[in-house]
Amino acid sequence: MTSVDTRDNPLLTDAPLPAFDRIEPSDVVPAIHAILQAAQTRLEQLETQLEPTWAGLLRPLAELDVLFERSWGAVSHLFGVKNSDALRSAYEEVLGDVVAFGLRVSQSEPIYAALKSLKQSAEWERLCEAQQRIVDAKLLTADLAGVGLADEQRQRFNAAEQRLSQLSTDFSNHVLDATKAFEILIEDAQQVDGFPPSLLQLCSQSYNQEHGQPEDGQTKHGDEHPQSTPETGPWRITLDLPCYGPFLQHCRDRRLREQVYRAFITRASDGDLNNSQIIGEILRLRQEKAELLGYETFAATSLAKKMAPDVDAVDTMFHSLRTASWDAAVQDMRDVQTLAEDTGETEPLQHWDLPFWSERLREQRFDYTDEQIRPYFALDRVLQGMFDLVKHLFAVTVTAADGDAPVWHDDVRFFHVHDDNGNHLSSFYLDPFSRPENKRGGAWMNDCLARRADQTDLQRPVAHLVCNGTPPVGDKPSLMTFREVETLFHEFGHGLQHLLTRVDYPDAAGINGVEWDAVELPSQFMENWCYHKPTLLGMTAHYETGEPLPEELFDKICAARTYRAGTQMLRQLQFGMTDMELHHRFDLAGDEDPFAVQRRISRDTSVLPALDADRSLCSFQHIFAGGYAAGYYSYKWAEVLSADAFSAFEEAGLDDPQAVQETGIRFRDTVLGLGGGRHPMQVFRDFRGRDPQPDALLRHNGLGQP
Ligand code: ZN
Repeated sequence: MTSVDTRDNPLLTDAPLPAFDRIEPSDVVPAIHAILQAAQTRLEQLETQLEPTWAGLLRPLAELDVLFERSWGAVSHLFGVKNSDALRSAYEEVLGDVVAFGLRVSQSEPIYAALKSLKQSAEWERLCEAQQRIVDAKLLTADLAGVGLADEQRQRFNAAEQRLSQLSTDFSNHVLDATKAFEILIEDAQQVDGFPPSLLQLCSQSYNQEHGQPEDGQTKHGDEHPQSTPETGPWRITLDLPCYGPFLQHCRDRRLREQVYRAFITRASDGDLNNSQIIGEILRLRQEKAELLGYETFAATSLAKKMAPDVDAVDTMFHSLRTASWDAAVQDMRDVQTLAEDTGETEPLQHWDLPFWSERLREQRFDYTDEQIRPYFALDRVLQGMFDLVKHLFAVTVTAADGDAPVWHDDVRFFHVHDDNGNHLSSFYLDPFSRPENKRGGAWMNDCLARRADQTDLQRPVAHLVCNGTPPVGDKPSLMTFREVETLFHEFGHGLQHLLTRVDYPDAAGINGVEWDAVELPSQFMENWCYHKPTLLGMTAHYETGEPLPEELFDKICAARTYRAGTQMLRQLQFGMTDMELHHRFDLAGDEDPFAVQRRISRDTSVLPALDADRSLCSFQHIFAGGYAAGYYSYKWAEVLSADAFSAFEEAGLDDPQAVQETGIRFRDTVLGLGGGRHPMQVFRDFRGRDPQPDALLRHNGLGQP
């Protein structure tokens, strides 16, 4: 390899902030190679002269991370917000090496041994809580990766890991292929009667992509087909969620709905794409891994690195949420059945009827459209409202600082955060608008720089807030839907934990080191303020008339929040309970197969139990091909925490500004300030004065109240 001049590479400067305006795709490979080489050399040095002390081991390890922070961190960020073919190929060229280096560090045997001796040394007691948590987390990661196993066991462990990785890829591919393999073509316009324009458009487009006459006159399947238009068809129905969901809500033909529903719940359950065997093998290998690591079940290994103390605690949460939701779900069922009967339906409703009739009931009760809401939510006004809120809650001031930092696009804003004494605490970028040509969809918060402090130096935290809102058009400002407002508050909540951290060590500062099932606490907590009338109305002003959001629309937004809350809750519980059951109590050699387990649980979690034919486990990617195995409960766990945290403000009195601020400061100094530096259960107790309780979540959802 020829040596490359990296002196002028903008990824390798020590400027305080990444040079986002100058980084080019061609900078990536030389910079990351240089960084990897330097890191490799330092790691080898470190491994040969290991000192089991904080200064001799953890500090140099943290310095390794610094190498990547401004370089690889910036590249990954641009990959999400300013992608291009050139950047993608550069990124892919180095990605494998970066990942491999990270694994090499976290699975290093000499480092593992040194961490263990540090724990047994006299210095251990002198380390602060955050430092001890950092060491413990590194040891746990290594333990769970099998680093501590003896040779023969380690071989079995690695073999299981490899096989599992293959199985989850197969699982995913089968779901993808099975989803693709299904279609229904509709030519009779009567059958799409009632479809909204967006669904007609989608089904027509899908038809043309698959069967239409392309420019070159060659149809994909070689046979002659007409070109579709949304008005005249033909229309193609698929099992892709953007089609499947609206289809079941709007298709008036009951038999067609049944056909599509049955296809959906049996995806990847027979023929070449059958995932049934794979499910069994995955469960067996996970159990084997857990036993090799000295745990009783796979669920126990999953919970070892989470906030929830054990399976019992998760079961207790499931039980109380289920009990409180059941009657409401029964009532939900009665409501739609009554509406269906009033409209002339004579048969009892089945699974494939529920989305359709719930949608009719929703329209009847509180229909509103995004287009009615948007004019009241101009981005600048919403931002100001959100910044006023955090000033009031947490005594911090957010000020625009555009121009203080190089940015990757003209729309990107930059802000500083100061405390009440005028101390600069942190800064953040906000990239608010969608740019389909080069920016990933969705919304996220990411750290740009972590807080790092010692006697001589302080690096202030810097965050990225990324949304995909509607850009301004002409002289119309950016106008947001309610969902976009909620999303902005959500991401800002994550951001606040990063921006207001008081932890000095990057591995535990902000969201770093926070257990996975507790990470959504600050984000969902902030969403609650969108349903607080004075806060929400205070940041609305019709962009033409200046009028605040009409109360009637606010009431509809609140009613929509709790619509069919019992049914929704039970549905999530069914996923979570099935996941936990399969990874904890399930006996592969027992009488029940995994599908029977799901059916048994559905009798407690669905007013209409799952059909015998239901094979939806075969497409449950969260737990068989994603990171949610024995972790699906986390969604509800975090909602319990965030609702309970918000209820501290309700108890203090939302109309009492001083009480709200006192509670806010306590939230800032515990949940936001301590980050990963203390166990999240302890942090929660510090804030709330007790363990989390599900009552507030149930109350906010209108559940479980007599
Ligand atoms: Zn989140």
